[in-house]
Amino acid sequence: MTAPALLPGVPDGVDHHRVISEMMRRACSAGFDIWWRRAGSVGFCANPIQLTGTDEVGRERVVWVRCNNRRATVCPSCSDLYARDTWQLVAAGTTGGRHNITTAVATRPQVFTTLTAPSYGAVHSGSGSKCRDHKTAGGHKRCQHGKPLWCSTIHEQTDVRVGQPLCAECYDYLGHVLFTWHLPELWRRFTIALRRDLTKHLKSQGSQAGSVKVSFVKVVEMQARAIPHIHASSVRSPRKPRQYRHRRLT
Ligand SMILES: [Zn+2]
Ligand SMILES: [Zn+2]
Ligand SMILES: [Zn+2]
Repeated sequence: MTAPALLPGVPDGVDHHRVISEMMRRACSAGFDIWWRRAGSVGFCANPIQLTGTDEVGRERVVWVRCNNRRATVCPSCSDLYARDTWQLVAAGTTGGRHNITTAVATRPQVFTTLTAPSYGAVHSGSGSKCRDHKTAGGHKRCQHGKPLWCSTIHEQTDVRVGQPLCAECYDYLGHVLFTWHLPELWRRFTIALRRDLTKHLKSQGSQAGSVKVSFVKVVEMQARAIPHIHASSVRSPRKPRQYRHRRLT
């Protein structure tokens, strides 16, 4: 008996045999070459958008464009392209030496920070060690609903319990949802407060307000408990290099 053929990169829940048979059907079809060139023109995007229009002599034309979705589960190709673009952006902004950014940028103060949501209740953890050891979780206590507040299991990352509350009735789902909903606004206000604090600090140091600017990129990731957190990288750079040099010399 031969082992079933498995394709790399196929999402969970998708029947590999069905994918293979569809690939075979496509490869044997008469229009395969045209289809291959079209699919290749959009980087083999999983969900290309088909734009239809007429050319100057009235013939109907179909053009494919990328879906540009950043989620690997939706489109591995577009998400990979986005990740590569982001890498170029971050590398240029932090180390320089590419895309017309000088290497001097690497000497400027840089911060790599992670902004995580508060706890809305104990959840199962897939950290690789005991989930919630009773020795550190206050003993073998139970919540008011009778659910254990400890868990001695070492969960695999793929365990469906990872990120789930120890007690769904104790878990603050309302807070969880409100935080997630308001995250963009929280981030916006954070950046406003950061720039205001910087201006205040510059003034207190006798420097001109606005002489230093904060540039940043951020990536929003979903944690196992289904709440987003932010990784941000920021660089503080002089807004007007000539003025900055002058101040440092005097
Ligand atoms: Zn795509
Ligand atoms: Zn657990
Ligand atoms: Zn409970």
